[in-house]
Amino acid sequence: MASERKALPVIDTTRCTGCGWCVAVCPPHVLSLAVVPGWQKKSTLHDEAGCTGCAKCAVRCPFDAITMQRIADLPPPR
Ligand code: SF4
Ligand code: SF4
Repeated sequence: MASERKALPVIDTTRCTGCGWCVAVCPPHVLSLAVVPGWQKKSTLHDEAGCTGCAKCAVRCPFDAITMQRIADLPPPR
């Protein structure tokens, strides 16, 4: 399905502290915290299709762990 999104958030898990701010500000609630090995929590985009590309998560992240990547620069789906 075509979408108006121009970019998707890419989360740098080495910078993410699991603080959850991005999860809290995401309007469609497509981010969540996942437990990774070592019992740390990291932000993950669990519903890429639901992301509007609004960049609120990237703006809110206090640790600069989220970068918006233009969809044209990402590998194509499939
Ligand atoms: S706001 Fe940044 S540091 Fe906090 S959980 Fe989200 S990506 Fe990780
Ligand atoms: S870009 Fe917007 S919709 Fe997409 S994950 Fe971030 S806050 Fe949510």
